[in-house]
Amino acid sequence: MPNRDAPDPDGPNRKAPNLKAVVREIADEMRQRTDRGEVASYIPELARVDAGAFGMAVIDANGNIATGGDSDVPFSIQSISKVFTLTLALGKVGDRLWRRVGREPSGSPFNSIVQLERECGIPRNPFINAGAIAVTDLILSGHQPREALGEILRFMQFLADDASITIDNAVAASEQRTGFRNSALANYMKSFGVLDNPVDYTLGVYFHHCAIAMTCRQLATAGRFLAHLGRNPDTGMSVVPPERARRINAIMLTCGHYDGSGEFAYRVGLPGKSGVGGGILAVAPGKASIAVWSPGLDAAGNSHLGRVALEALTKRMGWSIFGQ
Ligand code: GLN
Repeated sequence: MPNRDAPDPDGPNRKAPNLKAVVREIADEMRQRTDRGEVASYIPELARVDAGAFGMAVIDANGNIATGGDSDVPFSIQSISKVFTLTLALGKVGDRLWRRVGREPSGSPFNSIVQLERECGIPRNPFINAGAIAVTDLILSGHQPREALGEILRFMQFLADDASITIDNAVAASEQRTGFRNSALANYMKSFGVLDNPVDYTLGVYFHHCAIAMTCRQLATAGRFLAHLGRNPDTGMSVVPPERARRINAIMLTCGHYDGSGEFAYRVGLPGKSGVGGGILAVAPGKASIAVWSPGLDAAGNSHLGRVALEALTKRMGWSIFGQ
């Protein structure tokens, strides 16, 4: 005979889960998993990373931070930088940006060239490589590459409130030596007049902003404005207007994981952006900014355990934007 007075642990009055305990639990579970995916090797320097690493940092609306695993180890943020270059470029040129780049999911791999010919050199969205290169080109206009790169790096340092963040030049040089696909994409767009600057300059800035190294803690801090209507709730400092934060989140949800974006929305249910360094930045609007890192990737080039960990987090915290 069930005790009618005993509280139902899953009922409406259940206690809010303890974020710190949940994050610790997930980090422990991830450490034990043997399915880790494959570390990216097409950028030779990234292949040297320890496939066993796992880190997670979650910052809630009150600024409480919960961390687990290797949350203070810097890793190559790669395509996660595209969220921040998009934010910067929108600040510079506003909605004119959408003349150069679309905002539809591509359903193709991140480095695909197939849609560019049919669509006159206009990339589908700012998060596939072609789109991010076009965004970098907009930031570069009117500047020397070194200045543009300095502006991007300073923006990251400002958002993360940490002036120690740097670019890993070995990773940038490694990609510069082997980035034949990205060169092809950039040259192809240039032939349609979609890039204004010399291809080498634009690619140089692109490779270097992808090579920014950050920890989960720094990345989660940098993403806070996206979770809180465009402003950092601690400092009250506005980074973008609320409407822009909402729209960046929408593009992260629909395009942030390339041809794995549907699966990420289905399983995790948050706007997120992955990078081939194995990081993912995810945003629980009004609730938290989250960064995870596990270098092994799935077939679409997204962190395998990063996604598994985020799925566990949103489920246990009830944070999916689509409901419980
Ligand atoms: N720098 C990487 C590239 O251009 C970024 C790709 C990614 O992280 N998905 O290939």
